[in-house]
Amino acid sequence: MGKRKSRANCPFCNHGTDVECRIDMKNLIGEASGRICQESFSSVITALTEPIDIYSEWIDECERVNNHEEEDEEEEEEDVDRDDGYVPKKRVSTVE
Ligand SMILES: [Zn+2]
Repeated sequence: MGKRKSRANCPFCNHGTDVECRIDMKNLIGEASGRICQESFSSVITALTEPIDIYSEWIDECERVNNHEEEDEEEEEEDVDRDDGYVPKKRVSTVE
């Protein structure tokens, strides 16, 4: 149901201003960390990697973990159980 928030929040504590991304070009390591919750994530980067990429990777990683525990509230319980194949026979009354 259009649940695409702008990904700006810390995946752990949900603080919008919590996340800090750093790029270490010397060692080719990118790091994202939450200043409030003290969580951190690091990943190997390339010269083309931007801070937002680290952040996205972190989110992906978190989502992968969370998906096992937390079920999305997108319950689409549609009634697919309709028996469309069954057409009640019309009674044809033959009146003479
Ligand atoms: Zn945080």
